[in-house]
Amino acid sequence: MPPTRQTASPGLETPLQFVKGVGPQRAALLARKELHTVADALFFVPHRHEDRTRLTPIRALVPGAVVTIEGTLGGVSPPPPGRARQPLQAMVTDPTGRIIAIWFGQRYLVKTLQRGQRLVLHGKVDRFRGALTLRVEDFEIVESDGEDDRLHTGRLVPVYSTTEGLTQRPLRRLMWNIVESYAHEVPEMLPEPIRLRRKLPGLADALRSAHFPESETALAAAHRRLAFDDFFLLQMGLAILRARVTRSRGIAMNPPGALVRKLRPSLPFALTRAQERVWGEIREDMASPYPMHRLLQGDVGSGKTIVAALAVLTALEAGHQAAIMAPTEILAEQHYGTFHRLLEPLGLEVTLLTSALKPKERAARRAALAAGEIACAIGTHALVREGVAFKNLGLAVVDEQHRFGVHQRARLRGKGERPDLLVMTATPIPRTLALTLYGDLDVSVLDELPPGRQPVKTVSRTETKRAQIYTFLRDQIAAGRQVYVVYPLVEESEAIDLKAATDMARQLQEGPFRDVRVGLLHGRLGSEQKDEIMRRFKAKEIDLLVSTTVIEVGIDVPNAAVMLIEHAERFGLSQLHQLRGRVGRGPWKSYCILLTSGSPSEDAKRRVDAMTETNDGFRIAEVDLELRGHGEFFGTRQSGLPEFRVASLPRDTAILEDARKEAATIVATDLELRVPEHRELRHQLLARWRGKLDLASVG
Ligand code: ADP
Ligand code: MG
Repeated sequence: MPPTRQTASPGLETPLQFVKGVGPQRAALLARKELHTVADALFFVPHRHEDRTRLTPIRALVPGAVVTIEGTLGGVSPPPPGRARQPLQAMVTDPTGRIIAIWFGQRYLVKTLQRGQRLVLHGKVDRFRGALTLRVEDFEIVESDGEDDRLHTGRLVPVYSTTEGLTQRPLRRLMWNIVESYAHEVPEMLPEPIRLRRKLPGLADALRSAHFPESETALAAAHRRLAFDDFFLLQMGLAILRARVTRSRGIAMNPPGALVRKLRPSLPFALTRAQERVWGEIREDMASPYPMHRLLQGDVGSGKTIVAALAVLTALEAGHQAAIMAPTEILAEQHYGTFHRLLEPLGLEVTLLTSALKPKERAARRAALAAGEIACAIGTHALVREGVAFKNLGLAVVDEQHRFGVHQRARLRGKGERPDLLVMTATPIPRTLALTLYGDLDVSVLDELPPGRQPVKTVSRTETKRAQIYTFLRDQIAAGRQVYVVYPLVEESEAIDLKAATDMARQLQEGPFRDVRVGLLHGRLGSEQKDEIMRRFKAKEIDLLVSTTVIEVGIDVPNAAVMLIEHAERFGLSQLHQLRGRVGRGPWKSYCILLTSGSPSEDAKRRVDAMTETNDGFRIAEVDLELRGHGEFFGTRQSGLPEFRVASLPRDTAILEDARKEAATIVATDLELRVPEHRELRHQLLARWRGKLDLASVG
């Protein structure tokens, strides 16, 4: 076997500590930024560039503008002792005027800033008590150091993310050294034809320009190149995973369809056109000898469960087992109830597996599954535990799949011999963006809600309206509806929040809702208690359910038509949308009341506005993506996919499309990247996917 080729030049692997001008102390600071080697540093691109050929004179500043100025520091006033949260202030003057510079949350700067220093400051101009202020986003102290000046003035100057003890100028100087000494060693990974076709600069050039560009054009080209690489490596990996699936042999399940035919007339509704279409797509996948690998995307309430049930019946009729995994116990219980109701009349047994089972019962159920005595298992991630085995798993369904990582998905699939996989999600993602996360899946979309659904009327209210809101809730209950009152529960303050929810339930029961039945549901209850509460709510023995976000996903109680969300400002947008999806599931007019308190942040206001403006999950997802940025939106870390170094969505969507097409052409001809021109690509791919791809013949 030939030795693994060392593609990367050894210089790139140099620990930063040994780079000229670094040393152990600075290396420790750099490590805080996850920068350990020269290669890390090269890809640590500035978060912006500043055109230092154009500084704004202080006299020309107007409130609202984001500007860069240069001036001399007057007196510095730190926040008074014990008021650490107050900002640090200093007067800055230039020949044209003066302005108060303000720093928030950076008390330590007291030690750095001194009267008489020259500074370049970047930030937003504001007016406070009649005086002009600059809210500083970043700044640097100008010290003339001879020939280095050309790095810091009169050009497009990189501005890096700094950390305490590591300021802008020395960091910039260090980056200059590294780029000058090592950028040329970075091996080109993109095959030449792609680079030419997409008009992308070479990698070494792109890195140089990403840090110290000669022009705006060079900077833009560098960004395109680096973003392309991010997407390309992601898409390559996804395309490889996908090609492996579609080329491997799976289970062909193509029974006559007797069970599905028996089930249909027992449903209280006819499937929507969208459900029929998606079911057709799934059935075809199942019948084919290749493993199905399909994402079913449908807004909350679009009826995904019944589609999954048809797939389950098909697997069972074909003589295989099926498993359905849900992210919460409450949802697993609900699915168990639904499937039990649907399957039992057909003589099929369903079993439930959660962590809440007593050991003896768990062992019995596991044994029955392993022996193939039970055909269908529903559960939480308890399903993918070691020790759970199936006799012949043919279909794995993952509900609310955004709550799981790729590993759990893979582990469920691993419980069988290449079973068909159906993953379902109510987090709608703009189509092009679905490609980043789900590029290894086929996508079906339920783009139609069952008939008769009315959009949920959503309003935003403040504390002053509480009495009227309660009157409204009571009227709704009197009219026969049920109500959710949702409390936020954030982990950091779980105990306090839990108490708030508990107190609220008691106060409601003892006060304004004396004459109705109030229930309380939260994650800390034992699973038997949780079941009991959900059972009573479904059976209409509880009128008003105070709950934490444990009801966020999947819960389906059509008679519950009203939801009051307390502290709506504390929830994320997609979370609000998921919560709202619990109502509007029946023929009644439904309502969602967002109660905000305090003075919500700008972002919180935009979230609440988006909710009151639209019920469309796709529109909500777009706003959410804008507000949160792609990293958080996709939960990249949780998903287990490689993270982007430079690319950003939705900004770079067009580049993503290009990268996807190019990845597809390569995978079509050289799936395992064996040809010499793809060597470096292969090397980079393995590095970025950190073992999750292991290409067939490494080394
Ligand atoms: P989700 O897609 O959010 O998982 P569910 O599968 O829970 O949605 O379905 C929501 C509700 O709509 C359930 O009460 C279900 O019985 C009902 N439902 C599903 N399909 C239809 C249909 N074609 N017509 C009427 N009601 C339907
Ligand atoms: Mg669901």
